[in-house]
Amino acid sequence: MNSPTLEDLYRWDREHVWHAFTQMAEYEPLLIERAQGCTLIDVDGRELIDGVSSLWCNVHGHRHPHIDAAIRRQLDEVAHVTLLGSAHPTTVKLARRLAELMPALPHVFFSDSGATAVEVALKMAFQYWQQRPDPRPKKTRYLAFDNAYHGDTLGSVAVGGVARFHEMFRPLLFDVVRLPAPDTYRLPDGVTREKALDHYLRQFEEAVREHHESLAAVVIEPLIQAAAGMLTHPPGFLRGVREITQRYDVLLIADEVAVGMGRTGTMFACEQESVVPDLLCLAKGITGGYLPLAVTLASDEIWQAFLGRYEESKTFYHGHTYGGNPLGAAAAMATLDVFEQEQTLAKMQPKIARLQEFLERISQHPHVGDVRQRGLIAGIELVADKSTRQPFPWGEKRGIRVCQHAIQEGVWLRPLGNVVVILPPLAISLDQLDKICLAVEHGIDAATS
Ligand code: PMP
Repeated sequence: MNSPTLEDLYRWDREHVWHAFTQMAEYEPLLIERAQGCTLIDVDGRELIDGVSSLWCNVHGHRHPHIDAAIRRQLDEVAHVTLLGSAHPTTVKLARRLAELMPALPHVFFSDSGATAVEVALKMAFQYWQQRPDPRPKKTRYLAFDNAYHGDTLGSVAVGGVARFHEMFRPLLFDVVRLPAPDTYRLPDGVTREKALDHYLRQFEEAVREHHESLAAVVIEPLIQAAAGMLTHPPGFLRGVREITQRYDVLLIADEVAVGMGRTGTMFACEQESVVPDLLCLAKGITGGYLPLAVTLASDEIWQAFLGRYEESKTFYHGHTYGGNPLGAAAAMATLDVFEQEQTLAKMQPKIARLQEFLERISQHPHVGDVRQRGLIAGIELVADKSTRQPFPWGEKRGIRVCQHAIQEGVWLRPLGNVVVILPPLAISLDQLDKICLAVEHGIDAATS
C-alpha cells in the first residue's frame, strides 16, 4: 500500500473514525502527530499548547524522559501479563506504592479506565453488604448528584446525572436516590453563598436519613464536578458528606478520576478536607496520561468481606483483560517518581496563583457569569445575561467558538458547553499558562461580541 497523503488521512479520519462526544456530521479533523512537553504538534507542524491535558489526563508533559524510559524498560521484559491469578512485579510494586500513599485503602483493584474504576467500586459496595459478617442485604442502592459524571458504561451512567449525555439511556439504567448538585453559582431561591454549605448538607442528611437502610453507597466527585462544567462544591461539603455517611453506615465512593493525581494542588482531592472514603477511584493522570490504567482502592473492612473458602463464592467476580497492565503500571510508577523528583505539587503553587489572578480579571467581563477554580482546574462560565445568570442557548456554541479562536493563537482547549475549561498539565510553565489565558481572553471577546 502506498503511504497515504495528508488528504487521505483527513478523509479517512472523517469517514472511519467515530469520534467520542463529537457530532461527526460537523467534525473538522485535527491530527496531532507528535508532542513535546506541554506542546502538541499536528501533521502540518503547527504547535499547540495542550490547555486541557489531552482531556484531563496528562500530568508531567508529553514524552517525559523518565516515563518514556520506564515504559521502554518494561517493554523489554513483557508488555502484558494477566491479573487473573498471576501478576507482574511492576504491577505489584505499584499496588504497594499506592497503598503507601493512601494507607487507609491498602487494597488495589486494577482496571483500565475511569468508567471501569467506578463500575468496580459500585459492584464492590453492593457485594460488600451482601456478604459481610453481619450482612445487610437490603442495602442495594446508591445516592448520587445531579450533573455528576462518572463515565460512560451503564453502571457509571446510572449514577451520572448530566441530562444531555445520560437522559437518552434512562430506560436502561437502575434507579438511584438523586440530590441536586451542591452548586455555588446557581443556588436555590433564598439560599445565599454563605448559607449554601448548611443548605446542601441538611438536604443531604435528610436524604440519607430517609434512605440509609437501602443505601449501599454515596458516589461523589470530590470538590469539583468536572464534566458538569467544573462545578465547585462549597468548602466543607465533602467533609460533611463523610461524617453523615459514617453516622448512617453508608459507604462513600470518591471518584477522583478527574481531580486526583495532583490536579487540585494535593495528590488526592479528599486530602483537602481530611477525608478518607471507603473506595477511591483513580484513572486518567495515574499513568501521567500515557496509558489506560485505572485503580479502585478499597478499605480493609471491604476486602475482608470478600475473603472465604473457594466454595463460598465470596470472590469478586469482575475483571478486565488488561487490568494492571505492566506497561501502564510502569508509566504510573514513573509518574509517581516524577512527582517526587520534580517536586511537582510544590511547584504548582505559583501557577495556581497566576491562574487565579487571570480568573479574577476575566470575571469582570460582561459575559463571564462565574469563574471556578481548584488548583490547576478552572472553569469560566459564559452567560447571555450576567445579572440574571441567563445561559447562552446551547446551539450558539459559545464555548466552542472560544476554543476555535484559541487554536488560532496556538492553544488547544475543549469546552464543556458554555464553560471554557483551563486544565493544563501540572508541568505547564508560567509562560505557557499566560499564553493559554491570553488566548482564552481574546477567544471570549471574539465569541461574545
Ligand atoms: N469519572 C470522572 C469524574 C470523569 O471526569 C471521567 C472522565 N472524564 C470518568 C469518570 C470516566 O473516565 P474514562 O473516560 O477514563 O472512562
